[in-house]
Amino acid sequence: MADAMLSLNNVESAYGPIKAIRGVSLSVMKGQIATVLGSNGAGKTTILKTISGIIDPRKGSIVFRGEDITALDPTYVVKRGLSHVPEGREVFPLLTVHDNLMMGAYTRRDRDAVARDLEAVYAYFPILKEREKQDAGLLSGGQQQMLAISRAILAGPELILLDEPSLGLSPKLTRDIFEIVVRINRERGTTILLVEQNANMALNAADHGYVLENGRIVMEDTCERLREKDDIKEFYLGMK
Ligand code: ATP
Repeated sequence: MADAMLSLNNVESAYGPIKAIRGVSLSVMKGQIATVLGSNGAGKTTILKTISGIIDPRKGSIVFRGEDITALDPTYVVKRGLSHVPEGREVFPLLTVHDNLMMGAYTRRDRDAVARDLEAVYAYFPILKEREKQDAGLLSGGQQQMLAISRAILAGPELILLDEPSLGLSPKLTRDIFEIVVRINRERGTTILLVEQNANMALNAADHGYVLENGRIVMEDTCERLREKDDIKEFYLGMK
């Protein structure tokens, strides 16, 4: 596909004998927010870890910006413009907020652009500016999620992989964070692949969606159309 920034072709990944994803094919178009919906254990995190090189797939290929990145080292993948916001945030608790953000920029040499990105994330999340000298371990869960997203932006990415940003957050905080994620996409042009159990939030934020069940993609459509499907209403949106 001409405008696909990322494509997975028939990707299979496993943990020992346990196949977590079984022949997953999907595309993320440049400038879009794409989402993978699925319940607990469906394989969402495994898809993201396989894309960013944390897990080597058993089969299939991954193409990012025209280059085959299948099983490449994560450091290399980051340099090519892909940053991963992991499930559970994984901030460095004993480093300050500012130093966590600078860790995101460690592969960059363009100091002026890094300074501009730092100002941009402080504008999206002013609380991080207020707390920039505090240890990240002292932040609330929501603030740590903001920090993890901001750290990913400091890597200067074309594509952000976002693993379950709503995890453990109140509905209000989840809404606030999704609103900023959409602004980051619209204002900075950053392409986003979001995996979520919170189908309602994900379908409102994203353009295109995939539904993952037991490691397989079982449905794909625009989010507008997915929201109208009876199966999605019943099983993912809790509507009759
Ligand atoms: P969650 O929302 O709970 O993170 P998920 O959709 O992201 O779920 P994965 O974490 O990708 O799902 O897990 C997919 C499958 O692989 C599950 O059956 C899970 O038990 C298994 N799995 C995940 N990590 C490991 C691991 N390190 N070792 C063995 N099995 C694992």
